[in-house]
Amino acid sequence: MHCTFCLTSLRPVLNWTSLFAEQKSELLCEECKSKLEFITGSRCSICSRPFSRIDSEYIRGSLCLDCYKWEQDPQWKGVLDGNTSIFVYNDFLKEIIALFKYRGDHKVARAFAAYFPKKTARGRVVSPIPLSEERLYERGFNQSEAILAYTHLGYKQLLSRVHGDKQSKISRQERLENTAVFSAANIEGCHAQHVLLVDDIYTTGATVRQAAKVLKNAGANTVISFTVAR
Ligand SMILES: [Zn+2]
Ligand SMILES: [Zn+2]
Repeated sequence: MHCTFCLTSLRPVLNWTSLFAEQKSELLCEECKSKLEFITGSRCSICSRPFSRIDSEYIRGSLCLDCYKWEQDPQWKGVLDGNTSIFVYNDFLKEIIALFKYRGDHKVARAFAAYFPKKTARGRVVSPIPLSEERLYERGFNQSEAILAYTHLGYKQLLSRVHGDKQSKISRQERLENTAVFSAANIEGCHAQHVLLVDDIYTTGATVRQAAKVLKNAGANTVISFTVAR
């Protein structure tokens, strides 16, 4: 067996603990595991941003300043009901996610899927954030769907991309104003539903909020998201 991230070979430790250990512990070597930073302790009650990593001036009550600003805007207030992230988006994870997205390493999806909050998915329609057709063509796969495939949970694509703007190349302001990124592909599927959106990284929160807004407009009751890194 090899470490999913760095490919060094893993020496199997044969003892009773390892026999019953969860699968995720076998996928990564100790060094890679040590470079992953779990989000722990107090955090923003909407987006999971860990408070230990930001200055107190960027905290407003139970919210980070970003979420506070979103919630002050009547257009966006209450649109996203919450976000769970597992890891801090540090330099190591940046490398891993780049490996995953641009080199299409599906084993990375398997490593991430081991951390998927299956309990949170209960009673919810799970839907990956769709890629634009252009991106899908470039990359050959949707990274959120790849993670979901390894969770063995059922999922349904509720959204489609309206146009293929390269989100990472436009400014935050443009993203904020660009609300017509998604449309609800399966509106009946959204009605009165609780939805769990899945994406790899939560950065400004614009992507998941735009998706959540479309779903809420289509009748979804609650929309939360799972992102691997924050
Ligand atoms: Zn490793
Ligand atoms: Zn927040």
